Amino acid sequence: MKRRVTLHFPRESVHQPITYRLAVDFDIAAKILRAQIAPNQSGTMVVELSGDIDDLSAAEQWLESQGLGLNRAPGEIQIDRERCVDCGICSSLCPSGALRLESAPWQLRFNAQRCLVCEQCIPSCPFEAIALVLDQPVADPLGASA
Ligand code: SF4
Ligand code: SF4
Repeated sequence: MKRRVTLHFPRESVHQPITYRLAVDFDIAAKILRAQIAPNQSGTMVVELSGDIDDLSAAEQWLESQGLGLNRAPGEIQIDRERCVDCGICSSLCPSGALRLESAPWQLRFNAQRCLVCEQCIPSCPFEAIALVLDQPVADPLGASA
């Protein structure tokens, strides 16, 4: 599964080989989506982590133990009620129970507090009613578009 997180680096952690340690120690692939880190300064990085759910949890605990701030939801899932037909396909794939189909009347319910932002539900919807809305992008230190 995939999870997008925002990492906040204190100044003393900027030089840590984070992506290398995630790959070797936790079998987690880390894809950097945006970064704003200058030498000897604190920084922020938006990363997509891919791996087994248990490995992801262990990796996140390790990151926090290294002094990094970790925001697990750099964006949020939104359901377009105009498009949704309450078929329930997405809820059957949701690993956290954030999406549930309630009975009488059958209606999709979304609990944002439970959402892992794993994005598994997005491609499952035949009506493209689910989208990830990202928070304000972090500026690229090189000035390139993300
Ligand atoms: S609602 Fe979607 S993104 Fe959130 S946990 Fe469920 S499947 Fe993952
Ligand atoms: S798969 Fe799409 S249409 Fe079906 S319940 Fe989920 S959001 Fe609604």
